[in-house]
Amino acid sequence: LGSINVYNKFINNYAKIRAPLNNLLKKNTPWCWTPKCQEAFEILKNALVCKPILKIFNPKLPCHIFVDASQSGVGAILKQPDVSGVLHPIAFHSRSLRDYEKNYAITELECLAIVDALNKFYHYLFGNKFTIHTDHAALVWLKNVKNLKGRLFRWSLLLSMYDYDIKYTKGTLNFEADMLSRDIPDNIENNSILKTNVDLNNVSHFSHLLQLDEIREAQQNDNLTGNFIKIDNVLCIRKKGFTKIVVPFSLRHKLLEITHKKFGHPGIQKTINLLTPVYYWENITLDITNFNKHCHTCQINKKPRQKRFGLLQEMPPVDKPFEIIAIDSVGGFNYYNSTKKYLTLVIDHHTRYMWSFASKSITTETYVNFLHQIFQIQTPKSILSDRNAAFTSSHFKKFLKHSKIKQLLTTAHRPETNGKVERLGQTIVTRLKCKINDSSKKIPWPKLLKEVTEEYNLTPHSVTKFPPAFLMFGTVPFNHPLSEEIYPPVEEARKIAVERTKQYHEKNKIYYDARFTHIEFSPNDTVMYEDFKYPNTRKLTPTFSGPYIILEKFSDVNYKINKKNIHNKENTEIVHISKLRRYHPPDKLKLCHE
Ligand SMILES: [Zn+2]
Repeated sequence: LGSINVYNKFINNYAKIRAPLNNLLKKNTPWCWTPKCQEAFEILKNALVCKPILKIFNPKLPCHIFVDASQSGVGAILKQPDVSGVLHPIAFHSRSLRDYEKNYAITELECLAIVDALNKFYHYLFGNKFTIHTDHAALVWLKNVKNLKGRLFRWSLLLSMYDYDIKYTKGTLNFEADMLSRDIPDNIENNSILKTNVDLNNVSHFSHLLQLDEIREAQQNDNLTGNFIKIDNVLCIRKKGFTKIVVPFSLRHKLLEITHKKFGHPGIQKTINLLTPVYYWENITLDITNFNKHCHTCQINKKPRQKRFGLLQEMPPVDKPFEIIAIDSVGGFNYYNSTKKYLTLVIDHHTRYMWSFASKSITTETYVNFLHQIFQIQTPKSILSDRNAAFTSSHFKKFLKHSKIKQLLTTAHRPETNGKVERLGQTIVTRLKCKINDSSKKIPWPKLLKEVTEEYNLTPHSVTKFPPAFLMFGTVPFNHPLSEEIYPPVEEARKIAVERTKQYHEKNKIYYDARFTHIEFSPNDTVMYEDFKYPNTRKLTPTFSGPYIILEKFSDVNYKINKKNIHNKENTEIVHISKLRRYHPPDKLKLCHE
């Protein structure tokens, strides 16, 4: 109640609401938690995270950061003054400590809280002067430590990027942040309650893929040999600046399976980018390739990309988030346990961070509503879209002008300028397909879309090799079991991401349209068949049916397979090779060591 009291001036009817709770404070009164108390508690709890308590960020006003750390968690509040100078919260952040952070000294934890807050509130703080309120002399300490190494060095580098003043706040005055850093139930990572009514930043991360104890035990049983080092009694190998855990034979299958499931059937390159900075075994990339090839769900739902969208004409890479965001929609989803027909994707060009929305229709109003939700994080400099009437309407143009956003439209004869969001569309539709056809329950596709979006944002992008959520918010997909940093600091990572994008564009200029493969099947081969579909309908039905067996080769392009012919009711059908793909039975999967 003491903590809530601070906000009594912002909660309507505060005293009235809290009245039932006051009784509990009276001396010599038995403690009795009545339904009325519960109701009051719920109302106050909600009031804290709703308007007018949480104000919309105003870039013109000064920012104040309040931080606190305890042995169980770190917390921070971002505040801005109103017209009368009273500080209002803009955003809260709190999380429990990771296992390895529990060994930090309190001063170190205080630094961690600050660093964490700066990362979380990066978009509000970077480039602006602000004030940090803290109850320990952590920052002074950090400035005076000699020969900074590793983590502390990175922290001081990160702090040096910001323009800030420090104000000492005695612990008692800092109790709201204090409240956030204490008693956070295990495994609940309250990543940030930034957008109160919007579910945009629900990027949680999967803490560990394999447990350390599990790794240690399996390593001992497996008799691994090689040029390994031991850290914390775990066999590791140093490669390309990474400390990688050597995965024993018995855990390889499990690790691949967990990763494939948790990240929503990622492709080969994405899985390699996810796992190889942290885990090692000989031929890991071969095993990943093999594993993905044999996944039934991936095989029947994914289709090798035929068209490479105009890489040559694509927009030049940008080096910051929110310079360009691109928006596009696709229809054809109104069968999958929902009346919502359209999928709208918005992608940030620099980080590849993605927002997704499902809706019954797409009009200027729908788009304005979607974009408003994104603008709560930051208003972009420009928006790229096609020439759909909803984007060229005067209402939409007015909306952009009012928000001071530049409009970029694809030229009529070169729609591929918006290639990033179009390719993303294919990726997301494929992943949705995997999910919807993988589950026996009827789950509405917009619900699956949420999962797919989160998984996409946490998976390293095939070009930048960094997860979009990391480049955007500094969120990592999972922790290194030995608490090593998986990625460089966000600022550095963004520069690397731009370099990799440029290189990718260069390379693809050369390989553009140089892709052709000749396929031939023999009797007894297992194959899938690409079923006919009307365009723009039933987007999430599997691409392929099967598996079938090749019974006979009729010509170079015609094969007889054991597929029921719906027209003449025969048990076999003659099909064209362009409709066939090789199928790899999951039970035939063999990892390299097997
Ligand atoms: Zn799969």
